[in-house]
Amino acid sequence: MTAIGFFGAGRMGTALVRTLLKNGHDVHVWNRTAEKAQALGAFGAQPQPTPEAASARAEIVIVNLLDYDASDAQLRRPEVASALQGKLLVQLTSGSPKTARDTGAWAAAEGIAYLDGAIMATPNFIGEPDTLILYSGSRTAYRKYETVFAALGGKSAFVNEDFGAASALDSALLSQMWGTLFGTLQALAVIEAEDIDAETYAAYLRLVQPVIDLAEQDLMRRVRDGRDGGDAETFATIAAHNAAFQHLKHINAERGLNPTIADAFGTLFAAAIQNGHAEDDFAALARFMVTR
Ligand code: NAP
Repeated sequence: MTAIGFFGAGRMGTALVRTLLKNGHDVHVWNRTAEKAQALGAFGAQPQPTPEAASARAEIVIVNLLDYDASDAQLRRPEVASALQGKLLVQLTSGSPKTARDTGAWAAAEGIAYLDGAIMATPNFIGEPDTLILYSGSRTAYRKYETVFAALGGKSAFVNEDFGAASALDSALLSQMWGTLFGTLQALAVIEAEDIDAETYAAYLRLVQPVIDLAEQDLMRRVRDGRDGGDAETFATIAAHNAAFQHLKHINAERGLNPTIADAFGTLFAAAIQNGHAEDDFAALARFMVTR
């Protein structure tokens, strides 16, 4: 059993605290709106009136607040910083790599071990065997408390000692998710405008999914290897993609659909073609993802 201080009893914080309690840990919870911390008392948590009180008897302090502004406003108070000294601080609030690195540097200066985490799941998945939570920062601290992290997510992983690495992966993985979700929004707008029902579309999507998955894997390998010229193994050149893409633009214009998502694709196709990459592999578009 580990004594754990916890700041935050929102949707995610509540799921994390309840899972820690279920695994037998002694959890001292503070939340800005005290009723939410008190409600966790029914599950065995010890509600505390301040973050410093929640940290006082803990070995580990976990923070899960809305954003880093809310978290910094608490952590950077002298009473809290001194209560955290010699302990492990685990930041599970979402942030950018820079905010994670800033907090890691602050913690090091205060004599606090630090792990920055990224929760790759919604609250209902907390505590499940396949749930991924990424951590970066103090390897020693991660190893020491690995069973606590494994209880929160069975697929929890230590990335590396760069405090910002977990946050960077968070943004990359979310980009992947948003790419799919925004693509789905565009697809649904097309089928609805063209009077095709969603079940029919979903059945065809399942058949095309292996083609999409293979194209994605090929893109990752080609960008990694810098192999972006059109060659015998290229599935479709940028010119071929762009020709098919024109049909989507026409449907959007004819049916009065929002062109915002397609415009983003179009901007990248146009940049590549204007710069002489029409006959290159789709992977050549990666050259236009960096602006400086
Ligand atoms: P939430 O339900 O809105 O909870 C937000 C928490 O932050 C509450 O405890 C809230 O306290 C506290 N808070 C907000 N502003 C504050 C302030 N100025 N000072 C002190 N406390 C403040 O949000 P959530 O979904 O649990 O998300 C919490 C964190 O987990 C976020 O960083 C989010 O990105 C991350 N996350 C969430 C999910 C998800 O699916 N929900 C998934 C991955 C990561 P009050 O109760 O007093 O309002």
